[in-house]
Parts: sequence; C-alpha cells; structure tokens
Amino acid sequence: MACKRVEMHVSRLVTLAILALLTSCSPTSVVLDPEAATSSTTTASTSTTGTSPSTTTTSTTTTLTTPTTTVPAVLPELQFDEAGVPLNGQSDGVLVSNTGWVLPILSGLDRGRHRIWTPCGRQADVSGGKVIPEADFVLDPGHGGSEPGAVGQGGLEEKDLNLEVTLKIRDALVGAGYSVVMTRQSDVRVPIVTRAEIGQALDPIAFLSVHFNAGTNARSEIPGTEMYHQIENADSKRLAGLLYEETRAVLDQFDIPWVALGDSGTTFRPNQAGGDYYGVLRRPAPVVSVLLEFAYLSNPAEEELVSDPAVQGQLAHAVLVAVGRFLETDDPGSGFIDEPIFRGYGPSGAGRTDNCTDPMLE
Ligand SMILES: [Zn+2]
Repeated sequence: MACKRVEMHVSRLVTLAILALLTSCSPTSVVLDPEAATSSTTTASTSTTGTSPSTTTTSTTTTLTTPTTTVPAVLPELQFDEAGVPLNGQSDGVLVSNTGWVLPILSGLDRGRHRIWTPCGRQADVSGGKVIPEADFVLDPGHGGSEPGAVGQGGLEEKDLNLEVTLKIRDALVGAGYSVVMTRQSDVRVPIVTRAEIGQALDPIAFLSVHFNAGTNARSEIPGTEMYHQIENADSKRLAGLLYEETRAVLDQFDIPWVALGDSGTTFRPNQAGGDYYGVLRRPAPVVSVLLEFAYLSNPAEEELVSDPAVQGQLAHAVLVAVGRFLETDDPGSGFIDEPIFRGYGPSGAGRTDNCTDPMLE
C-alpha cells in the first residue's frame, strides 16, 4: 500500500528551485521569503535538472526545457461554498513557488505557469516554481502567524512548538525514505481549508495535524494525550490508535504531574450533523487524517518537558514507528474511547479565509 514515491521533500525542492532561479540570471526581481524557504539540513545538490523556472537566460545557446503542460480548453475557476470558503478537492499536485509557498494546483497554464489556490484560498496564476505531484505524508503544524494556539505559562506558544516538533517528524520520515510536504514551514497563518487542500492535492498515505493541548487543570496519573481520528475511516482510527500507543510509550517514561480529561485516548469529536467536528479531519477526507494532541502545553510541568529538544525528538520517532506499524502490520492500536465526553458543537471556524492577506507568490 505504501510505495515510497518521490524521494524529495519540500525544503530540498525549495532549495533546488532557488538554486535554479539564482543561476538563471533572471532580470525580474524575485523576493525570496527567508522564513518560508528555511531548511535545517539541506545540502546543495548539483543536479538541478528539474522543472526550472521558465525564465529566459542571457545565453543564446541554451535551450530551456519548458515543462510540457496540456492546457485545458476551459480553465477551471475556483469554486466556493455559500459562506465564501473554497470547496475542497479541486486541485491536483502542489506548486512550490519560488518564494517557498506550497500552492495546490488548479491547472497548468502555458509557458510554465500554473493556476493555483493561494494560501488565503483565492485563485491566482503564478510563474515558475516546482511541481510536486504527490507525497507519502502531509504534515500540518497547527496554527501560525496571528493564531498562536495554546500558550504555556512559561510563554511557549503552541504554533512554534508545533512547528519545531513537525520539523523533527519530517526529518524522521524523510530519513526513512518517505516523501513529505508540510503545510507551512514558517510562522505564517494558513487557513485550515488550504491546509486540507494541500492534503487532498498530494494524495498522501496520511495527513497528520500536529498540536499541543490546553483546557484542563485536572491532575492525572497518566498523560492526557488525545489522538483524534475520522469517525467514518477505519484506517484513520487504527493509525490514531498506533500513534497513541507509541506516544504513550514515550511520555510514560516521565514521572511528572500530568493533566488530562477523564476520557483522554484515541478518540473522535462529532459535529451536530454527525460528521467530524475538526476541519483538519473533515476537510482532507477521503485522505486518512489524524489530529495529534501530544500533551498539555497549558500545564507548566508538561510545557517544560516538551520544550526539551530530546523529548521532541522522541515524539517524532514515535510517529515514525507508528507509521511503520500502520503500513507493515495489522496491529490495531490502543486507547480507543467509545463514548467521549461531549465537548460541544460550537462554531469551530475551521477553514475560514476572511482577514487573510496573501503573501507575495512570485
Ligand atoms: Zn492546536
């Protein structure tokens, strides 16, 4: 089921795109977003024969290979629901722009351009960049930019912790040969509907949304880890159960004053219609998706623990082990909660694209 596909990950692709850009002597000014293009462990490759930006060079002897794109007779227009939020499932593959953004592709255009879905969920036509047709895993570091998520008493913001841990998960998965794309690689706001579309566009084995929790001070003998699965998807449920098992194996080593709700475990949360409440589970479907709440950032003892890069590395390794067991065994996982405590139907706001300012894409 899990053939290892494109053995590249997004930071490498971004670097390649930048290298190709820098060597193409393009006279156009291109703003490189240093944050969006951040890569921790990228080595320069001498092989830059991919789809380089379709710029003209000053050399008269060089023939550039413009990607052959079949442009449909009628170009697709982005479709929205009645609330003005784009409908998921409209794209195929992603374009990593020369500025480092991951953009679901609506259609190829001529001369190396693409019609894409912007981070804020709008339509735009963009030149250059690198196409990624699929990925083994899409990793989603929760929150970002103006949305900090939970904030620890020590000042650690969930958006930053999520990104740190997700980068370690990426490195672990890539190190094992999987291809990975992240929905954000810097401190930026990306609406959930766009994160989900990146998931759908890449048809991964799974979409994993990485979070840390807040909301209870109830002392517990065990960690309050919550792994949310899609209600109607047995694979999502089993993967969540395996992620729960491996995460607990890491956290159970530490004797600290945990907090937890009475029904922590491998769980689910319905909305009023009986579907998945959380947009990161509902919107990527039919892609298998899991929402990981590793521990409680709101608990000072847990904040201190998960601030430790070594512990973060262990959590990342736990995800790698869980993924391996998901793909190579029939292990059922554990921690399943049949009747979760009612957590309310309130407006999740998931997917909202209002008050969103798109970045420079080229
Ligand atoms: Zn969160």
